[in-house]
Amino acid sequence: MKPLLELKSNGPFTIGVDVGGTKTAVGVVNSQMNLAGKRENPTKKASVDAVVEGIVDTVYEVLNESNMALSSVVGIGIGIPGRVDIKEGTVLSPVSLKWQSRIPLKCILEKIFNVPIVVDNDVRTAAYGEKYRGAGVGCDNFVYITIGTGVAAAIVINGKLYCGASGGAGELGHTSIDRHGSSCSCGNRGCVESIIAGPAVEVKAKRAIKEGIKTRINTMALDDLQKVTAEMVFEAARTGDHLAINIIEQFIRNTGLVLTNIVNFLDPELIIIGGGIGQATDLFLKPLEDMVRTNTLFPVLQKVMIVPALLGVDAGIIGAGVLAHDMGI
Ligand SMILES: [Zn+2]
Repeated sequence: MKPLLELKSNGPFTIGVDVGGTKTAVGVVNSQMNLAGKRENPTKKASVDAVVEGIVDTVYEVLNESNMALSSVVGIGIGIPGRVDIKEGTVLSPVSLKWQSRIPLKCILEKIFNVPIVVDNDVRTAAYGEKYRGAGVGCDNFVYITIGTGVAAAIVINGKLYCGASGGAGELGHTSIDRHGSSCSCGNRGCVESIIAGPAVEVKAKRAIKEGIKTRINTMALDDLQKVTAEMVFEAARTGDHLAINIIEQFIRNTGLVLTNIVNFLDPELIIIGGGIGQATDLFLKPLEDMVRTNTLFPVLQKVMIVPALLGVDAGIIGAGVLAHDMGI
């Protein structure tokens, strides 16, 4: 944590909150959009009240540790999974939190904290954090994509987050690219998520092992098919395992197709890859960038760069804190 005097000299301050399916992370964000003190607690998913209580407790823990009073905070930004209407501050059905209806989170938290609250989707707040302190610094037109157990995206246009007409922009994972493909949790078929996310990588490895293909992945999983993970596939590829390399090549082809579509549609300067699989970018970033540049409509003009996200969980905290600073502009 930064020394108190340094922290105090960089006000005004906001609080950034990142509510994840497993953890709620909270930090103080100063006027230079730097993180000054943070804390993480498990997200209590039992009910809306439990999630709200977790946010409140963690905010006060961070304030206490930073020797700050709530009165020195000018706003609080919240990043949360699900469809968020940023104008109303309502959150609709974040599956990972098991909420069944539209929750007026901004209204609930403003009553508790009595400071301005802004709520946005967690992928968008993470993208905003990367814009201010991570891989997107200096870039006003980019797409941020998380690839992990799911796939989602956030779009920054002219320096601002693009939310869509009803807060639903960025549901890249549920864009279908194969109507005969496998069924997805959303009810559609051939969704991007069901083709390139971690579980899809895992399924390909399990299927091949079942068919008797020799691979180190099997040894890594102690000959237990249930223990096979996407991380093992990426790890095995680093050691030259043929099956793993083959699966990664398929991943690159499919992800390249998706990113090429994005580049043709939005012409971003940059695509930032984050999320669990995003951490294995050393294995696929360069071939992915080559494929995308080659396959877009005007390859000779194409300079899009594909880069890894830099901030991890801090991206969501910083981005939410910056959104809260934006309210004061
Ligand atoms: Zn889907």
